[in-house]
Amino acid sequence: MESILVLTHTADTPTALTKASLEAITAGRDLSTRLDAPLTIGIVATEIPHAAVFPAATRILAVLDPALAQPRYSTDAAACETLCRAAQPTIVLAPGSSRFARIAAGVAHRLGGVIDTHITALAGSSNIEATRWLYRQRIEAVLHRDARPWFLLLDPGTHAPYSAAPDSISAAQAAIEPISVSLPAPRTTVTGYRSPNQSADTIRPDAKLLFVAGAGWTKKQPDGQLHTAEASALILNFLRATSASLGSSKSLVDQGSDGHSVLPFLTHMNQIGQTGSTPRHAKGLSTCCHGEEPHVVGWRFIAERRAISLDPNCGWTRGKADVVYIADAFAVIARLNELLAASKP
Ligand SMILES: Cc1cc2nc3c(=O)[nH]c(=O)nc-3n(C[C@H](O)[C@H](O)[C@H](O)COP(=O)(O)OP(=O)(O)OC[C@H]3O[C@@H](n4cnc5c(N)ncnc54)[C@H](O)[C@@H]3O)c2cc1C
Repeated sequence: MESILVLTHTADTPTALTKASLEAITAGRDLSTRLDAPLTIGIVATEIPHAAVFPAATRILAVLDPALAQPRYSTDAAACETLCRAAQPTIVLAPGSSRFARIAAGVAHRLGGVIDTHITALAGSSNIEATRWLYRQRIEAVLHRDARPWFLLLDPGTHAPYSAAPDSISAAQAAIEPISVSLPAPRTTVTGYRSPNQSADTIRPDAKLLFVAGAGWTKKQPDGQLHTAEASALILNFLRATSASLGSSKSLVDQGSDGHSVLPFLTHMNQIGQTGSTPRHAKGLSTCCHGEEPHVVGWRFIAERRAISLDPNCGWTRGKADVVYIADAFAVIARLNELLAASKP
């Protein structure tokens, strides 16, 4: 019989679990119901996350230590290994956060287990069927394994975050079992965060809207002139007003290395597509982008797609977007920014 452990960790505020951790709890709860298998939740934190709710009839283990305030391979791996040894699971689900993605394979190895990453769905009631995408989201594979323990790192954004359901209990009601751990003495000290570039501030995986800037923003406009500074201001104002995540086409981010007029806040980290990222947002708005296949393949998980392009024959109009506005994005975004500013209380 299977037994399931969901590994979770807290966010910057120690009182709350991360959204990706709550998604892993949903996945674990659903899987345990389907397999009729016991469910354990393991928490890596400095203190009990008081704001959390858990499915009832769940065993909850916590490794609590001040050293876990900061993500670090040695301490995080030791904490997760301790939780696994205490729970003795056959299946371990964990959020594919940068914190757990770094340690999960190492912990699986210490437990003599196996691991699969980027899991997007779990199905099956007698056998576990784990789904992931391969070859840049073009092929969907369903994986089975006999080896145990089987670690499955879940892609964030693929499950609904667990929230108070009728069968929930609060952290105060739950009998949380503290598990003692002997953490290795840290050899590294985190002194603060320094973003490698400004794009780190514009990439917001949890945003409802993805705003994509294409190379058209830095091309000569109908007046024969470049308007890069205006483009910068329009895009940044839109992002400030909507808290959207900023994506880019490859052509636009490549311009920086080619010495052309560029938008200074964009880097390759923003690139969406075949050789870029494949984010998950409820909506996407493409601007000044042609919508070619290597770009649009990165939109696979965007639920509702809209585009603003001057070209009525662009890729978006050929069935790749739900709505296409054949219009000047400079004018449309300027007007949108006015409306957004006016709608602010
Ligand atoms: C192996 C390979 C991998 C690739 N991987 C990627 C990838 O991961 N991501 C990616 O993005 N691309 C990728 N590409 C490149 C891709 O094929 C396209 O070249 C690129 O996406 C084009 O970028 P763009 O649409 O921004 O630029 P362009 O093709 O130059 O299009 C600019 C668009 O802006 C419009 N425009 C101009 N001014 C305005 C205005 N004022 N208002 C509205 N619209 C305006 C124009 O009409 C035009 O349609 C890859 C290519 C290859 C060969």
